[in-house]
Amino acid sequence: MSYNQITFEVENDIGLIGFGKDESLSMPILNEEALRELRDCVEDVAKRQKSEIKGLIIYSHNPKAFLAGADIKLISSMTTETEAAAGAETGQVIFNSIEDLKIPVTACVSGVCLGGGCELILACDKIYVSDAPNTQIGLPEVQLGFIPGFGGTYRLPKRIGLPNSLDMILSGKKVNGRKAKKLGLADEVYPAENLLRMAKDKIFKKNKQKSIQDNIQDLAIDNFVTRKMIFSKARESVMKKTKGFYQAPLKILEVMEEGYGKGRTAYLAMESQAFGELCMGSQSQNLQHLFFLMDNSKKYNGPKGEGVVTKVETGGVLGAGTMGGGIAWLFANNGQSPIMKDISTDALELGLKQSAQNFKGALKRKKISPYDFEKMQRSIHPTLSFDGFKNIDLLIEAIVENMEIKKKVFAETESYLREDCLITSNTSSLSIEEMSQALKRPERFAGLHFFNPVHRMPLVEIITHSKVAPETVEALYKWCLKVKKTPIIVNDGPGFLVNRILMPYMNEAMFLLEEGVDFKAIEKACVNFGMPMGPFRLMDEVGIDVGAKVAKIIHDGLGDRLKSSSMSSKIAESGFLGKKNSKGFYLYDSKGKEDGENEEMRSFFKASGKSMDEKQIQMRIFLPMINEASYILEDKIVDKAETVDLGMIFGTGFPPFRGGLCKYADNEGLERIVGVMRDFAKDVSSERYTPSPLLEKMIKEKIKFYDL
Ligand code: NAD
Repeated sequence: MSYNQITFEVENDIGLIGFGKDESLSMPILNEEALRELRDCVEDVAKRQKSEIKGLIIYSHNPKAFLAGADIKLISSMTTETEAAAGAETGQVIFNSIEDLKIPVTACVSGVCLGGGCELILACDKIYVSDAPNTQIGLPEVQLGFIPGFGGTYRLPKRIGLPNSLDMILSGKKVNGRKAKKLGLADEVYPAENLLRMAKDKIFKKNKQKSIQDNIQDLAIDNFVTRKMIFSKARESVMKKTKGFYQAPLKILEVMEEGYGKGRTAYLAMESQAFGELCMGSQSQNLQHLFFLMDNSKKYNGPKGEGVVTKVETGGVLGAGTMGGGIAWLFANNGQSPIMKDISTDALELGLKQSAQNFKGALKRKKISPYDFEKMQRSIHPTLSFDGFKNIDLLIEAIVENMEIKKKVFAETESYLREDCLITSNTSSLSIEEMSQALKRPERFAGLHFFNPVHRMPLVEIITHSKVAPETVEALYKWCLKVKKTPIIVNDGPGFLVNRILMPYMNEAMFLLEEGVDFKAIEKACVNFGMPMGPFRLMDEVGIDVGAKVAKIIHDGLGDRLKSSSMSSKIAESGFLGKKNSKGFYLYDSKGKEDGENEEMRSFFKASGKSMDEKQIQMRIFLPMINEASYILEDKIVDKAETVDLGMIFGTGFPPFRGGLCKYADNEGLERIVGVMRDFAKDVSSERYTPSPLLEKMIKEKIKFYDL
């Protein structure tokens, strides 16, 4: 039989199934064809087992991956719960038939082995893994809002015990080869090049017996009370981590607890049914949507030029402050030894400290070795001069937020750079168009807006202007991907994309407070919506003074729709700056830990007393954000709702399970949203709540953000 997705041959009585035959796929996946071929091949092996075939090895030809998982496009194409559950059963039947073979089966894993890939190897007798750094094994389905549906939740506990499997399945975490061996998920670890040979040599040897300790643990888990405790702890930890927002981990817990001890058929029926239910639910649909947004963003789809696209190997940072230190760390962490220039040695010290702190975090989490830490931290070259700037490919400016100073510094710096060096500014609010005028080579210049803290926030806005060359945008986009950030391309305009939409988030919270709505109720309503922090905490993080400054720029540029409460600047002028001086809406101790609400703040506002229900508060805050998103699309700051959603999720932590701001609006129904806005426009403020012409047009034409 010949196949397109897999290879099959028999060598010295051993059947060899190899994934990764289809080279058009960057990584092998379980798509419809691969599943069909695997089923046929295993059926063939079953017929010939013990006579012609005495053992079976499953491996991959692709060094990047054993199997990257089931095809998400296939999952997304399902239209009903029954269809999705039947899809899961298809995979279960194939993996059962592997498990039921009467000959020994060994899986050889090197590279990525996720989701359906991991579930497949669990159906094998032995799992050999490589110690290659790209080996990652896990069940990340929970991150897409569903349960592993090909028997993963049934088989993993049998291999690694209940507590460890709950940890892996509920978090979706991936483990490398060595960790897999330590957990008992893998039987042996070998260098990638020896994997297949060792599997062939040892296929007929018996697996090691379970240790006494493992047997004792199994016995303990068989005890109802112990098991109850394990599940209750796991549930507690899920609630703590997800605040109860996510349905999938709770449903997974339910299936694993109720199914514990049941036979394979009964258990798998529960698993496939839960898969169908979850996968068709709105949360998972939104998370699947986000998966495609992310996947799409990994390719550059922007404008193309004729010239050479600079490949960035080394960088330079101007300014060693909060952002400069973080950006220097980013270069160093990606092996691109940066130069970090400031005007004072004290500032350079601070920048180095900032980077070291990030590395130390990774060291503590065992993500890097002490050797890596030393090597990467030392690769940052602090300097007060322009020596070495001729060698850099990318300059990122992160000095004080002042147009005249930035222009002066750019004009001076340009003469120290190569002609093909990319020049960028990390400004959060100043015009990139205006800044470009200070340069002799504006075509090599763009905004590169990182978010604070750089090591945590994945988003980078690449800000364009009228003279930027497409090659510059492409080079910056590719560099962002290389350093594992999520870039979006944004046209110049006050607040660019993310800060402009965040403005109403903070503004409306201030107006509500002025109206007498309770401080805590406002914070809680936003957190209960799924935001990572309430608006007042966010203002403290950003700096109340910085926020007021940016608010003014956005208001001046965009008019009264984005008028902010005069309170912010009054509060800042009174010395309440937020976390940076330990006094904002909250108080902070010397280590920056929150120390309760700041009672002094109450003097700025009416005594609370106006009661407003949570949904109403949420509408007051999130509807103007949706309105602003529509203005952003109308003003062509970005061209698609997808970009707004990617920006909001990765730049502000907008709840991923809502699929993004525009997706949320589409799901809620634009007609209803506009109706509520019109009411607010009458009762609260016509300036801030009048729906945009684009929203009105969408209603008239009965289209959604995602139809634009
Ligand atoms: P910061 O005040 O912490 O650091 C600025 C640094 O620039 C200081 O160390 C200062 O000594 C140095 N500097 C001043 N003039 C210089 C010059 N001529 N050459 C070299 N260094 C010089 O500021 P920050 O918060 O890191 O912000 C830097 C830039 O990043 C600003 O444009 C800001 O708008 C932007 N930004 C800040 C944040 C944030 O949350 N802090 C987020 C995104 C963007």
